[in-house]
Amino acid sequence: MRFGWRDGAAKRPWRISAKLLIISSVVTVIGFSAICVNVMLDMRRGEEALARQTLENLATTIEADIGRNIEIYDLALRAVASNMLLPELSAVSKPIRQLILFDHAITARHFGAVQVFDSDGKLTIDASTLDPVPENRSDEDYFKVHRDNPNAGLFISRPMLFRGAYAIVLSRRISDQDGGFMGVVAGSIRFSYFHELFERLTLDPEDTITVLKRDRTIMMRRPFDLDIIGKNLADRAKWKPDNLKAGGTYSGQGPVDATPRLYARSNGGGPLFVVAGKPLSAVFALWKTEAFRIGAVVLTLILFMLGSTLVLAREIGRRADAENKLEEMATTDALTGLRNRRKFDQVIDLEWRRAVRHGSPVALLMIDADHFKAYNDTYGHQAGDQVLVGIAICISDSVRRAGDCAARYGGEEFAVLLPDTSADDAFKVAEKIRTKVQGWSDDQSMSTVSCGVASLVPMAGMDWSILVAAADKALYAAKAGGRNQSVVANIPKLSLVA
Ligand code: GH3
Ligand code: MG
Ligand code: MG
Repeated sequence: MRFGWRDGAAKRPWRISAKLLIISSVVTVIGFSAICVNVMLDMRRGEEALARQTLENLATTIEADIGRNIEIYDLALRAVASNMLLPELSAVSKPIRQLILFDHAITARHFGAVQVFDSDGKLTIDASTLDPVPENRSDEDYFKVHRDNPNAGLFISRPMLFRGAYAIVLSRRISDQDGGFMGVVAGSIRFSYFHELFERLTLDPEDTITVLKRDRTIMMRRPFDLDIIGKNLADRAKWKPDNLKAGGTYSGQGPVDATPRLYARSNGGGPLFVVAGKPLSAVFALWKTEAFRIGAVVLTLILFMLGSTLVLAREIGRRADAENKLEEMATTDALTGLRNRRKFDQVIDLEWRRAVRHGSPVALLMIDADHFKAYNDTYGHQAGDQVLVGIAICISDSVRRAGDCAARYGGEEFAVLLPDTSADDAFKVAEKIRTKVQGWSDDQSMSTVSCGVASLVPMAGMDWSILVAAADKALYAAKAGGRNQSVVANIPKLSLVA
């Protein structure tokens, strides 16, 4: 059975070091994780920047190639348009006319034959043959645009079936000296040109290359899908032109399919522009592997560190408990569980100085079992010990205030320190103890106790032995007065003694 008062101050250093250890580990883990996350994000940004640069270069290179070919073709169309005005043209033979009008450049593999239509849309001259089959193209967009608008310049049509193959038609207006409409010169660039251009590039199956007109009509796309060719992105409500400006990049779902990609748009000024896309999963594939590897290592280290911290903290806690137990054992009386004399001396010293500082009273009860020698002689030492335990219970039941200290002072003598307590209040406590012991002794043939009570407001320079002596004196008075009673020390006299 323990009746001791726990002294929290003694536990603190151990508790603090366990807490400090846990806090410093957690802070280290958080710091370490923050650095790792930062490094990984940096790596991710690096991968993204590299992919962006590669896509931008790819888009710009493709645009440049397309632009160059369109320019070559356009030069040929312009030459035809201006040569058509030569008055000599009607005088020369058809083969000579072909030679004058058509240059060899436009007979390249992917270029369709240049054709000249008159102001009614009738085919008049064809670069591929001296006797073209009659046809009329007055319904085609590329004819109507030039007929209705003298300043249309180079017109690039939507992708269309042209002479049995998908192609885009390039056309220019033929105007006479006064600007009058004389017809249209048109030629085509077959899709085979784009296919061959894209095949030369090393691309993953999910990579996309889209060739668009300035009005955002899709002219060509890889992977090739006829359903998309010719569609205009302006029709897609979700896709705003601002999403991907010239020379810019966009990360996320594109206008055509659901795969999230990194898209880069070429920044040239040609009639067509190019958007190159790479799936985000491919852009970050390497990074993901690396991040997973580093993450696994870091997580293992963190778990190891937290594990060791917990083990250490538990060990520290265990030691703290052991130390507290030892401390308690060293300050507790083994028989009664009250504080021992050593602890009591420490506590009275502390409380005495505190009372000096605060100018508050300190009371002391000295309690001694009556005729205890006789009790021992009658009932034996072991029974005597049980009585001492009983008295200790009576004392600790009566003394419950925090700061009070009940101790076994020696043999069958007990001391109770009551800080901030007047003599009257201390007397009440003494009587409570005494009557409790008496009440018990009636039932269990137990001894009675006598109490000496002293209370004073200590002054600087006074020693607490004065208080002990006063309480002792009062105890002797109680014994002399017939025992089983409490006596209060005469403090004015005490002051004179002091
Ligand atoms: P009184 O105080 O009333 O004047 O008489 P007393 O018989 O109690 O006084 P005294 O100081 O002469 O005797 C103290 C006795 O207390 C001596 C001893 O036998 C007994 N005693 C002291 N310590 C212990 C202890 O730890 N256990 C037991 N059983 N007895 C103890
Ligand atoms: Mg005694
Ligand atoms: Mg005694």
